[in-house]
Amino acid sequence: MTILQISGLSAGYGAVRAVDDVDLVVNEGEFVVLLGPNGAGKTTTMKVLSGLLTPSAGAVQFLGQDITKLAGWRRAGRGLVHVPEGRQIFPDHSVHDNLLLGGFAHRRGSNTQTDLDEMYGLFPRLAERRAQLAGTLSGGEAQMLAVARALMSRPKLLMLDEPSLGLAPLKVAELFAYLSQLHRERNLAILLVEQQARTALQLADRGYVLERGRIAVEGTAAELTSDSRVQAAYLGA
Ligand code: ATP
Repeated sequence: MTILQISGLSAGYGAVRAVDDVDLVVNEGEFVVLLGPNGAGKTTTMKVLSGLLTPSAGAVQFLGQDITKLAGWRRAGRGLVHVPEGRQIFPDHSVHDNLLLGGFAHRRGSNTQTDLDEMYGLFPRLAERRAQLAGTLSGGEAQMLAVARALMSRPKLLMLDEPSLGLAPLKVAELFAYLSQLHRERNLAILLVEQQARTALQLADRGYVLERGRIAVEGTAAELTSDSRVQAAYLGA
């Protein structure tokens, strides 16, 4: 089943067209990566998906419904959850309160305590630091908190914008191992924007390469990894 379908999407800022006629699909349980150089339009695509930016053309369908004009906060309630670039956790609140705020949007009748226990089980580092102010976490811990907070709202599709930014290589590996585990064990669909193409393609099922606002190459992770253009531009081959 298709979870997310983007068709003929164009978007930009004033006269700047940042995304031009993009088609992209994420199927149930699929891990899809969106690659591309600086300024290619990756973040712009994510902004349209999370409702921060209105597209100039095209449509976004989520779980079979047109959400092109749906307000951003309603999208999260439906299960389309975005971990933006820069993380956006609440620095003056504890780790625990940040997680509770993540669960806040969630439907009535759900069991927040069970979700919290699950997050602490998944990210033991956060359990150890549950009383610590989020603003004092290390970069890697803050990124884990941002992902855990997003998971508290029980997403059907988790969108992540460059979660590796500013993290040491070992922390990137750790975070990606968590993402991979979530994807496998919960069948969670993931759309990951990433500049670290080699690592991302090792995790993903499929991928798209965006160049100057257009999809330049698409295919399975194996196809992209063996594509000579992708190798030359993104894999340093
Ligand atoms: P990066 O990997 O560097 O984050 P990206 O692929 O996410 O890049 P976008 O942030 O989507 O790229 O930017 C696409 C284009 O839109 C770029 O040319 C950028 O300069 C331009 N752009 C982005 N935000 C704005 C804005 N608020 N106003 C004007 N132009 C913008």
